[in-house]
Amino acid sequence: MIVIMRHKATDDEIDAVVLRLENIGYQIHLSRGVERTIIGAIGNKTPGDVGLEAMPSVEKVVPILQPYKLASRTFQEEGTLIRVGGVEIGGDTIHVIAGPCAVESKEQLMEAASIVRSSGATMLRGGAYKPRTSPYSFQGLEEEGLKLLAEAREATGLLIVTEVMDARTLPLVAEYADIVQVGARNMQNFSLLREVAKVDKPVVLKRGPSAAIEEWLMAAEHIMAGGNYNVILCERGIRSFESYTRNTLDLTAVPVVKHLSHLPVFVDPSHAIGKWRYVPAMAKAAIAAGADGVMIEMHPNPAEALSDGAQSLTPNNFVNLMSDLKKMAGVVGRKMP
Ligand code: PEP
Ligand code: MN
Repeated sequence: MIVIMRHKATDDEIDAVVLRLENIGYQIHLSRGVERTIIGAIGNKTPGDVGLEAMPSVEKVVPILQPYKLASRTFQEEGTLIRVGGVEIGGDTIHVIAGPCAVESKEQLMEAASIVRSSGATMLRGGAYKPRTSPYSFQGLEEEGLKLLAEAREATGLLIVTEVMDARTLPLVAEYADIVQVGARNMQNFSLLREVAKVDKPVVLKRGPSAAIEEWLMAAEHIMAGGNYNVILCERGIRSFESYTRNTLDLTAVPVVKHLSHLPVFVDPSHAIGKWRYVPAMAKAAIAAGADGVMIEMHPNPAEALSDGAQSLTPNNFVNLMSDLKKMAGVVGRKMP
């Protein structure tokens, strides 16, 4: 529930309400405004049970009806802004995370990073631990890949987004990454979510290929309930009967999730569609739909890529897309760096 305190309630009055809620087992999230303080209380009781409305310092008690609480817009009306390394995610500025599917070599990553940098994107992606469907496919360079990402950050100033597949490697990934990615296949790996919740880095949470929007928001709730509020949701396509594309990009999720939640929403058209030819159209559509950013796979030489070459843009196509995205951002009243 949300407890809205009366205008200019005193610290003592706020403390009394917090204490009362804590004593009956609520977890408290306090938001002290200049004019008004709002107390978020997460627990299992119904607000009527608590008798708060009888307290003169309390203006109103609003129940959060959704099963996700911290992630809901009822809990926090204004959009979450995530500040990381001089970049603000979720505000007026649209950000692009781009780079190869996997870190393959120093040459490949440095070349990709320099294109990403000069195109105006702010974040470099690249997997060091790859969740591959086949155990015989390239699985990633692991720690060596993380070191190369750190070198690329050093050389370009780009922020690093990379996937963690397993709680055992999380400390290492979190040491190198600016933003930790939880992949679609791990969206409901609750033990991993609980660990990621303890890390002091923002998290990109991909939507599971078969996850309903509510399940996706509940996964975000797991991370937030554990103390990490910096969650970026990323739609990346869901399973459907359609087999011409790799997945079906659910762009409807963008306005729906922006309505239900205050968390920033990104779209990854590359993994959704699986074919480079259609990626630019859907990246532009994502911005039109209200996404806060996109994630794009780009490889210096897609034909030689060790993973996801078919969906990776060439540097040239990527640079053209960036210029189109800037125009599209303007159309929807937003900007790009
Ligand atoms: C990725 O971004 O590298 C990736 C594997 O994506 P997803 O988890 O969405 O399949
Ligand atoms: Mn990929």
